[in-house]
Amino acid sequence: MPDYQAPLRDLRFVMDEMLDYPSHYARLPGGEEATPDVVAAILEEGARFAREVLLPLNQSGDQEGCLLEGGEVKAPKGFREAYQQFVEGGWPSLAADPVHGGQGLPHSLAMALNEMICSTNLAWGMYPGLSHGAADALRHHGTEQQQATYLTKLVEGVWTGTMCLTEPHCGTDLGLIKTRAVPTADGAYEITGTKIFISAGEHDLAENIVHLVLAKLPDAPEGSKGISLFVVPKFLPDAEGNPGERNGVSCGSLEHKMGIHGNATCVMNFDAARGFLVGPPNKGLACMFTMMNAARLGVGIQGLGLTEASFQNALAYARDRLQMRSLSGPQAPEKPADPIIVHPDVRRMLLTQKAFAEGGRMLVLYTAQMLDIVEHGRDAAEREHAETLLSLLTPIVKAFLTEVGFEATNEGVQVFGGHGFIQEWGMEQLVRDSRITRLYEGTTGIQALDLLGRKVLMSQGESLKVFTKEIHKFCKAEEGNAELAEFVAPLAKLNAEWGELTMGIGMKAMNDREEVGAASVDYLMYSGYVTLAYLFARAAKQAREALAAGSDDAAFYEAKIKTARFYFQRLLPRTLAHARMIQAGAEPLMALSPEAFGLGFEI
Ligand SMILES: Cc1cc2nc3c(=O)[nH]c(=O)nc-3n(C[C@H](O)[C@H](O)[C@H](O)COP(=O)(O)OP(=O)(O)OC[C@H]3O[C@@H](n4cnc5c(N)ncnc54)[C@H](O)[C@@H]3O)c2cc1C
Repeated sequence: MPDYQAPLRDLRFVMDEMLDYPSHYARLPGGEEATPDVVAAILEEGARFAREVLLPLNQSGDQEGCLLEGGEVKAPKGFREAYQQFVEGGWPSLAADPVHGGQGLPHSLAMALNEMICSTNLAWGMYPGLSHGAADALRHHGTEQQQATYLTKLVEGVWTGTMCLTEPHCGTDLGLIKTRAVPTADGAYEITGTKIFISAGEHDLAENIVHLVLAKLPDAPEGSKGISLFVVPKFLPDAEGNPGERNGVSCGSLEHKMGIHGNATCVMNFDAARGFLVGPPNKGLACMFTMMNAARLGVGIQGLGLTEASFQNALAYARDRLQMRSLSGPQAPEKPADPIIVHPDVRRMLLTQKAFAEGGRMLVLYTAQMLDIVEHGRDAAEREHAETLLSLLTPIVKAFLTEVGFEATNEGVQVFGGHGFIQEWGMEQLVRDSRITRLYEGTTGIQALDLLGRKVLMSQGESLKVFTKEIHKFCKAEEGNAELAEFVAPLAKLNAEWGELTMGIGMKAMNDREEVGAASVDYLMYSGYVTLAYLFARAAKQAREALAAGSDDAAFYEAKIKTARFYFQRLLPRTLAHARMIQAGAEPLMALSPEAFGLGFEI
């Protein structure tokens, strides 16, 4: 069975040393509670829960899957008990507003913990995972009564939430949805339609499920401008707010899928189910975006968590597995062969995983600070600045960390050789589980369009400038620092090139809108690599300073610098290829007609 130790030392490095979380928390209203001791205690306890409670259920949950019987879904053995422990431990309410029964701790802390859940049991993590977004949507857009009825229960974890967007004929293009909402005489709505692929749509972990559903009113305008958001509970709350009458929503079937077998992916049928409008009519997509943005960051963390899990196990295996001798002569002469970690190619794979895990952690925790400030910052200008960065970085967190997460989990299988392909070791499960992260919450292609089209080009490059200016400032400040030159010089060059590439696409797009779509995924990956380069350069600076100050943890800091160096020399050059592909433009993609694609065979 795979093992896992939460990367607490690295979390401390990123949070306490590099990003100065203690000062960050001290400045947030309510954040003063999150003292370094409290944060450390919470992270340690979360690490224990993840390792001792969730990890042992990961492989069994994958093999057992979920069961649908008489309309009820049973999650795999042990999932329900683990969820009860989670609720009793107060974990779901950690970062929620005390007004709604939360503990008021910063969101970033919950995000750091979430990495551990994703590393140890992604399928389980998705049961509570969606409640947070549902609660957010109700907190921002729900009426007082809706908040009183649903929010506290969601925050406490007594009820869980879902996001019901996708229908058989539409996932990306939600303007096409067919689910209908017909007003009733008492001000509620009857919701009728079928939603597919609904994560945690039905299960036995909690006493009620709160569905947030997109549907169309009878007089709704066509397309995405005619979508409204409704709250539709599985059990209608009675006068005391407890689960009462069963509503007309049910699970029609469970999807059989590639990974996350322990999570119930449901076809949900709404048969004149009673629903209640959330936010203004026809503004449902905007309201749902509150939920989707939180969920997008959550999916990026899934990519990170799986990267870390795969790395830790590949590392242990590579230290243990003996095959062949090192090219430069025996490294373990007392043994019949050397451990495979001596081989450069195995090191390439391990370092790729390590760099993506550590880089991803920095990116998540950097972005999490922006989220804290957007939610709780005292100063309006600071909030606006954080909002710009958060909005820019969200598609990068979501898509870049899941793309490289898939790569990293695949490398994990490769390090194990044939054994990686065998179920028992758990490495193939990590690949299968990670594959979905590139798809749901908007595919990589859609995140890339969001980044380049909506975030960067629609703001005339202004949002990007906010970030590239920050990187420029760092590079300028460290220009004369010889010890950092290996990082700062290439970073400064790429930072300038990032702006130039963006201008180039913008210019071409004035004549041909296809240029945006043609460049978008390469642009997103390019942006991800440069963002991680900035963070690794900062990490290297921090590590150098700790070494200069005579730290007694020199091995950790030296490893950090070597990992940064690997990142800059062996992963960052991928930007060259992405830049070339961006510059190649739309023509090579659009030249072939849809018919010509199929010349040579008949379908
Ligand atoms: C296990 C699982 C769990 C899920 N959980 C949920 C959930 O809880 N709630 C929910 O509502 N949905 C959920 N989904 C649905 C998921 O969000 C969608 O599958 C996803 O958004 C893609 O939609 P689609 O499958 O319809 O693909 P399509 O929209 O048909 O896309 C197919 C391909 O075309 C590309 N494409 C489409 N339009 C464009 C465009 N304009 N430009 C460029 N490329 C484009 C896409 O990137 C993709 O590669 C889940 C799906 C799975 C498999």
